[in-house]
Amino acid sequence: MGKSSINYQAHFEGAIARLRAESRYRVFANLERDAARFPTALWRPDGSANEPREVTIWCSNDYLGMGGHEVVRAAAKEAIERHGVGAGGTRNISGTHHPIVQLEEELANLHGKDAALVFTSGWISNLASLSTIAELLPDCLILSDALNHNSMIEGIRRSGCEKKLWRHNDVEHLEELLIAAGPDRAKLIAFESLYSMDGDIAPVAKIVELARKYNALTYVDEVHAVGMYGDHGGGICEREGLMDSIDIIEGTLAKGFGGLGGYIAANAAIIDAVRSYAPSFIFTTSLPPAVVAGARAAVRHLKESSIERARHQHMAVLTKHALRAAGLPIMHNVSHIVPLMVGDAELCKAASDLLLTRHDIYIQPINYPTVDIGTERLRITPTPRHTEEHVAELVEALVDVWKTLGLTFIEPKVIPLRPLRPIVDESDVDAQCGYVEIKKAAE
Ligand SMILES: *Cc1c(COP(=O)(O)O)cnc(C)c1O
Repeated sequence: MGKSSINYQAHFEGAIARLRAESRYRVFANLERDAARFPTALWRPDGSANEPREVTIWCSNDYLGMGGHEVVRAAAKEAIERHGVGAGGTRNISGTHHPIVQLEEELANLHGKDAALVFTSGWISNLASLSTIAELLPDCLILSDALNHNSMIEGIRRSGCEKKLWRHNDVEHLEELLIAAGPDRAKLIAFESLYSMDGDIAPVAKIVELARKYNALTYVDEVHAVGMYGDHGGGICEREGLMDSIDIIEGTLAKGFGGLGGYIAANAAIIDAVRSYAPSFIFTTSLPPAVVAGARAAVRHLKESSIERARHQHMAVLTKHALRAAGLPIMHNVSHIVPLMVGDAELCKAASDLLLTRHDIYIQPINYPTVDIGTERLRITPTPRHTEEHVAELVEALVDVWKTLGLTFIEPKVIPLRPLRPIVDESDVDAQCGYVEIKKAAE
């Protein structure tokens, strides 16, 4: 036998070189979050040896700042003291601890379902649930919105079932596909309630109506809506009074709820089936008690308190107003996401770099494959903990970056994208948002 001539290293280096050539080589920002001062954080340029710099984060998915909320921190701390750090096993073998059972009850109640099942992440919850649910149905056809998240696509692929894409949010196209499938075929409609890159919202009522008409199951990813929409944080489906009409609601504990983990809520038979058949649920250690207790505290808090949701929407609207008034090309939508279009990978990266190095503002560039080529953007996520002053700094910095890089402005306009909601007295908001401690710490 001759000596093998495969150059393994060259393949990896080549793969990386291709990404660099397309300006989509990813550079992670080394951040040190500060629970008390979020969205302020420390950033270490080029590795941990450098002096840290204070920056304002404008792209966090800790949408409500719950990761640092005092009730969440207290619950997690208490759970560590009582139960220790690890879960001790998989769900089947000694890892079903009491806090995770309580969390599942809380989530089932949040969505008005029989039961819920918690996974190690939202990504895994989509992978495990979509693949298992579809696989257990005979010859299931999965009808998937064209812009569904990678975790849904992976779950669908793993099911081995036939998939048909419907044009994004196009219910007429969905109906055509439902008709073509015929009445005798099992059909699963998979979509998101709020798409996080454009910030647009699905026509849930119409989808539900079609599902009923053609006897299809519905699976909705509410990852970017739970905690943030609905009177109790149940998401877009709660807001629209449609939770009962959806078969499977999937969510994350890592965005609006500020922690880690994912879940589905559904009827007892579906939950029992996924629990019993999904390898990515069965063969992995369950989330630890402290993470679960923190998430449960966040869910419980946001069931009762709407102050974070009100302030979140207020800051999103305010940010959109301010950017639009400065002629910055934001994409219109009716959600909390503020996408600012650049349209070129290299310029998007350059804008992000300049914001960070010149203005101490951190907004990660969003490039392909997260969004289409030519629609590269800065995705801005205001939180209840951003202030009016932060917004003013952001606008000034963006205008400077836009001018420096010669990016396109649009005609400045002061148009009410949506009426500003009346906001309660600021000091009130601080007190009720659990920020009191922050102020004390800052003084
Ligand atoms: C982030 C995200 C997920 C994954 O959730 P994690 O808890 O972060 O793993 C799932 N679906 C959508 C639409 C997402 O944006």
